[in-house]
Amino acid sequence: MLYLVATPIGHLSDISLRALETLRQVDYVASEDTRHTGRLLKHFDISKPQISFHEHNEARAGERILGLLEAGQSVALVSDAGTPGIADPGFTLIREAIERGLPHTMIPGPTALIMAVVLSGLPAHSFTYRGFPPRKQGKRQKFLAIDQDSPHTLVFYESPYRITALLADALEVYGDRQAAIANELTKLYESMQHGRLSELLAQMQETEPRGEYVLVISGADLS
Ligand code: SAM
Repeated sequence: MLYLVATPIGHLSDISLRALETLRQVDYVASEDTRHTGRLLKHFDISKPQISFHEHNEARAGERILGLLEAGQSVALVSDAGTPGIADPGFTLIREAIERGLPHTMIPGPTALIMAVVLSGLPAHSFTYRGFPPRKQGKRQKFLAIDQDSPHTLVFYESPYRITALLADALEVYGDRQAAIANELTKLYESMQHGRLSELLAQMQETEPRGEYVLVISGADLS
C-alpha cells in the first residue's frame, strides 16, 4: 500500500493519530528532505528507513517506490509540511499507482490553503487554488490575469521574498479587492490580516516579510 500522509504545517501536535500509526507500521518513509522528516520521526520516536523523493529525482525515486509497492512493501510518502501533492511532489506517483493498479490511499491532515481560506472570512464555498505564481513580474501578471473575471475566491502560495511584489501585481490586475494574508499558520507568530489589497500592500511595505504566506483574494464581483 502507498500512503500519502499529511504532516503538520508548523505545530507538531497537529499530526493525526492515523498518521502516526501509519508511519509506525509502513516498511519505508519517502520524504522530500530526509533530515527534516528524520526530525519529525524522531520527535514521535519512530525509526524507519527513508527514501529521498523530491522534485529533482521524482522520476527515478518514483520508480524505486513503485518497485517496492509491486514487491508487496508499504511506503508512506510525506512532504516537508502539510499535504503531499499540494505544491509538493506527489501527484506523479499517485498517477502511476493508479495506472499500475497499485493500492494507495491518503491519511488526510493539515494543508495551509484550507486554513487560510477558512480564516480569510471570504467565501469558502467556492475557491480557486493557484499555488505559487511565477517569479518574474511579466509572467506573474499574466498568470494572475487568467482569473480576472472568475467569481471564485482566489488562493496563492508565496514566500517572504515575493509576497510584496505579488500584492502589488494583484492590485494592478484585479483592482482594490478585499483580501487576506495568512502568515506562519499554526506557528508561534501566526497572523491573519484582512483588508483591501492596497491596505495589505501598504502594511507589507512597512514591515520585513518573514515566514510563509498564503494570499486569499475575493473573486470578481460580476453583479
Ligand atoms: N504541502 C504544503 C501544504 O499542504 O500546504 C505546501 C508546501 S509549499 C512547498 C510551501 C508553501 O505553503 C509556503 O510557501 C506557503 O505559501 C504555504 N505554507 C505552508 N505552511 C504554511 C504556514 N504554516 N503558514 C502559511 N503558509 C504556509
